[in-house]
Amino acid sequence: MNDPAAGFGPRSDGQPVEAGPDPSADAVRPIVLDHSRPPEKMATDKVRCEACPVLCQISRGKLGACDRYGNVDGVLTRTDTLALVARPGTDLVAWQAARATGAGEAAGESGESAAGWDGRLVRTDAPVFVSGVGSGTTYPDYKPAPFIVASQHEGVDLVTVVTEGIFSYCSFKVKIDTDRYLGPEQATVRHRGEAVGHVSTIEYGSQFLALGGVHHLTGGSKKEGRIACEMMMALGNRAPVELQIEGGATVVVAADRPPVVDGVEERRMRVGCGSATIGIFAPQWAGHVDEVVVVDDHITGVLSEHQAGKFLDMAPTGLRIRGRKSTPGRYFQVASPGAGWGGTDITDPLAIVEGFDAAHGARPGLRLLMVSTTGEDAAWFVLDEQLRPQPAGMPAAVRRVVERIGENCEPSLCSVLYVAGAGGSLRAGVTDNPVRLTRSIKELLVNVTCGGAPVYVWPGGGITVMVDVARMPAMSFGSVPTPAIVSPIEFTMRLADYRALGGHLDRVRRLDEVIATGAWRLVEAHAANPWPLTAGAASAPGDRR
Ligand code: SF4
Repeated sequence: MNDPAAGFGPRSDGQPVEAGPDPSADAVRPIVLDHSRPPEKMATDKVRCEACPVLCQISRGKLGACDRYGNVDGVLTRTDTLALVARPGTDLVAWQAARATGAGEAAGESGESAAGWDGRLVRTDAPVFVSGVGSGTTYPDYKPAPFIVASQHEGVDLVTVVTEGIFSYCSFKVKIDTDRYLGPEQATVRHRGEAVGHVSTIEYGSQFLALGGVHHLTGGSKKEGRIACEMMMALGNRAPVELQIEGGATVVVAADRPPVVDGVEERRMRVGCGSATIGIFAPQWAGHVDEVVVVDDHITGVLSEHQAGKFLDMAPTGLRIRGRKSTPGRYFQVASPGAGWGGTDITDPLAIVEGFDAAHGARPGLRLLMVSTTGEDAAWFVLDEQLRPQPAGMPAAVRRVVERIGENCEPSLCSVLYVAGAGGSLRAGVTDNPVRLTRSIKELLVNVTCGGAPVYVWPGGGITVMVDVARMPAMSFGSVPTPAIVSPIEFTMRLADYRALGGHLDRVRRLDEVIATGAWRLVEAHAANPWPLTAGAASAPGDRR
């Protein structure tokens, strides 16, 4: 810890860093112990962990209830290592080698080492970002965050407040790219028999589940809370999770992996609804077909009636189709939802055809294509003399368009987004006036990240963040048996802004000091992530350089 009177001590370029007056310095403060007094009956060879309300007493060589902390030779030790996210272009091998030889200690002092370590890297733009992964937690929350790190980016002095937050208020929104029917909206989703979420809305080609959340963590039985917490931690760590949907399917989801619905791995995300598919491909069918039906659980398209067919001057075909007509060539509810064609329950496409009406254009020899919204299912028919559709070999020109539907489908994936409320007591680890942190985030003075990954901060009150777990470092999530989820969160801002919001300036450490400990591991930044320090240094209202 630095002496607050001396600011942050010398900067790595040798210049002093002005900490400025601490706005809280005049306040009358009670004495705050680094650790509360252990219970008198605690055995002397135990250590007490105070990183969450469970307050484990851990025997030598053992782990606490969450496996995140252990007693190593009488010292409370975080079992995971602090993860430093390497800026793209950083020589990871050289860094690892330098640490292995202990050269990291030279980072702030002597510059280059035999292993290629160049301490001067730290003196300009920070080559690594201190993430919350493995950083540890402070409890109760008024203690400063475990790492408050000073670094520079493009000449701007920055501070990053780093912690592993304990979140009771958190959940996952899972987007599943599939046409298969997963279950009715609002249906309960179960994991290992316990209720852990519910089915949300269907969006374009995807179905959403809302999983976890404080209701399941705290509002049900103890077992429900424990199972929900385990499921959430697994989802966050991108592990496959099997979910049973009441009145629907069993689905296995994992971040950035294809969903498995009732044992079948999904491959294609639909190109569009039935009507959209008609709209996209109508000109390519013209001249090769008399009628096309794109079977869809939501909006089945009929080419000759559809506006796309009208623009192509297609003749009526007298096709009568089941369901409720919405607008010309667009039908709702042609069948029940299921795992068949276009998310319906049908496996025989003619099941939705009521017949052909000669008075409205049906004629022998009429050519009919029926196809699903992914092109995975397709059949070709020709009307016989009694106007009954007879299966026939599909012409090559029609087959090519069916294949093009498939070509235009994206791969099916599960997207797992983590939502957490950071607007509570966690803020006290950043500043002793928490509302200033909330305001600073809203004013875009603070860049919030989770494990270095960019987050979306929801509008309105609080600090509700949403992040794609696939862009966070592997194994970013933990849990404690309260039950609650533990996840990394970082707040990066300019030094001047940290001072202005009443930050814990006396706890700031220089980045090179953190590196010099050698107690870290390097992880690669996700290729799609913006560099968190760039956003932290970005000019928000007014230029404060
Ligand atoms: S559950 Fe984990 S974080 Fe909580 S007190 Fe025990 S060891 Fe510490």
